[in-house]
Amino acid sequence: MNMQALKKNRIRKGDVVVVIAGRDRGKSGKVLSVDPGAGKVVVEKLNMIKRHTKPNPGKNVKGGIVEREASVHASNVQLVCPDCGAQTRVGRKILGDGRKVRICRKCEGVVDK
Ligand SMILES: [Zn+2]
Repeated sequence: MNMQALKKNRIRKGDVVVVIAGRDRGKSGKVLSVDPGAGKVVVEKLNMIKRHTKPNPGKNVKGGIVEREASVHASNVQLVCPDCGAQTRVGRKILGDGRKVRICRKCEGVVDK
């Protein structure tokens, strides 16, 4: 269990992130899911692994090689700011109406619309 990484990065589902370590370094994609318990995220089309599956006619599963995303550690990705397009750390801000939002540390823009 590593909450630290997620807290630090504050990555959420739907965010566009760039990978900053490992084999897919420099590539970006959309976050498909977040596992806060494990401190991991799944990024669309990144960290693909090949799975060999056996056919299972009962479940209508065809055999073969299936490519799917493997999770990456949240500390290995950084948010891409939807406003300025920079890869950035995430700040926090409380708006006038009391909403807590994430902000881009580069342009101070609000990430959560
Ligand atoms: Zn920005």
